Amino acid sequence: MREHFELRDADAAGRIGRLTVPRADVTVETPVLLPVVNPNLQTISPKRLHEEFGAEILITNSYIIHGNDELREEALDRGLHEMLDFPGAIMTDSGSFQLSEYGEIDVTTDEILRFQHEIGSDIGTPVDIPTPPDVDRERAEDELATTKERLAEAEAIDTGEMLVNAPVQGSTYPDLREDAAAHADATDLDVFPVGAVVPLMNDYRYGDMVDAVAAAKRGLGEDAPVHLFGAGHPMMFALAVAMGCDLFDSAAYALYARDGRYLTVSGTEHLDELDYLPCSCPVCTEFSPDELRALDDRSQEEELAAHNLHVTFQEIRRIKQAIRDGDLLELVEARARAHPAMLDGYRALCDHAEQLERADPASKNAFFYLSAESADRPEVVRHHKRLDRLDPEGEVLLTEGNKSDSFDESWRVVPPFGPFPRELSETYPLTAEVPDRRDRRALERAADGVARLAELNPDVEFTVGHRGWHESALDRIPERVTLWNLSEQSR
Ligand SMILES: [Zn+2]
Repeated sequence: MREHFELRDADAAGRIGRLTVPRADVTVETPVLLPVVNPNLQTISPKRLHEEFGAEILITNSYIIHGNDELREEALDRGLHEMLDFPGAIMTDSGSFQLSEYGEIDVTTDEILRFQHEIGSDIGTPVDIPTPPDVDRERAEDELATTKERLAEAEAIDTGEMLVNAPVQGSTYPDLREDAAAHADATDLDVFPVGAVVPLMNDYRYGDMVDAVAAAKRGLGEDAPVHLFGAGHPMMFALAVAMGCDLFDSAAYALYARDGRYLTVSGTEHLDELDYLPCSCPVCTEFSPDELRALDDRSQEEELAAHNLHVTFQEIRRIKQAIRDGDLLELVEARARAHPAMLDGYRALCDHAEQLERADPASKNAFFYLSAESADRPEVVRHHKRLDRLDPEGEVLLTEGNKSDSFDESWRVVPPFGPFPRELSETYPLTAEVPDRRDRRALERAADGVARLAELNPDVEFTVGHRGWHESALDRIPERVTLWNLSEQSR
């Protein structure tokens, strides 16, 4: 068990945890956002991040500090915390990003990790190789081998109480990601960034992002804190948390503000095109769009950055409350409606329902059926798995209608779950709120449940009483099961 990370609550693969950062003597609750602070250019000062936004941890780049004589001397002399004037925990990056952008950097893992330790970083990072998506497999394998060597180098360095990141690479090859994650998990390093997903997010490839995270999670233990490196748009936080990510870093709040972009949980707006501000943060309460546009460049950038941060921190709080309430997937589902690429991400999450099912709590608040995708949630997968624990006998009616005494047993059948004995009606997730106008996918999944029950109990005679199910659902039920269309019968 990793002593510095403790899990408290869970929903889907999302969790509320406590990450203890011993060198800073700080414990942060996850999911957590680390604002990125550029040591050369502070859009919002670290002190203000702490006091006004409640940031307990931030991330800055030790490579930039190391490469600038003035900053390097100051950091070595005064220490990072004093230099940035930030009382919380500080994570530092190593120059890997610059390596991926410019092809080379002039420090080794040994140098930069020792430097991070010397300047007082609380969580350091070795120089891993961020392999971009879609490269050929040979390159992904070669670069992963190098990343693994760098992790071994990092392990060998005495970094005292400083925690150390173990980045997980592997490009868009799920088996390489899983292998990289299992390797990183076996080291004695501490925090696990899923690396090089920024190009995926820049291209709105949220489905591929979900696949990369799912693969990494298969290789990591439950007790591994996972950082989605470079993910700063609040639109995708709920999705990433539901897949099991615990840490996010945002450079987006400042970068987007620099060119007039305004973040929302459903996408990005441009200040030039806004007639109204759909937000009630202090910035949006104080200014109208015209007033923001009238500000000088520097002030406008700062105000937009502050709004962007408010939205971002607010979404993290909303996600934590959703985990507590057990409706994180409902939140993911709502966010998925904002953009087709987000819907892709949510559908990819449902493709991993089996994997999520293993982490998902057995009981939560009511399951809300909100779209056809809800039919593929982990709870439905679990219900189908549980059918093998049930023992129907004789002639059994599975019905959407009333009980019938002409059968030995009379079970309910509820889309999207399928059949279950009446006494389970009040147990999660069978207490689900489902719309009256059911969609085809809900009926198909219910039919899958019937088919599975029939397969598990070859000696039982089943009859299904359904309210006019669609052909595509009825086709999934084995021929030996008798079908009754209740809506065609007089009552
Ligand atoms: Zn606002």
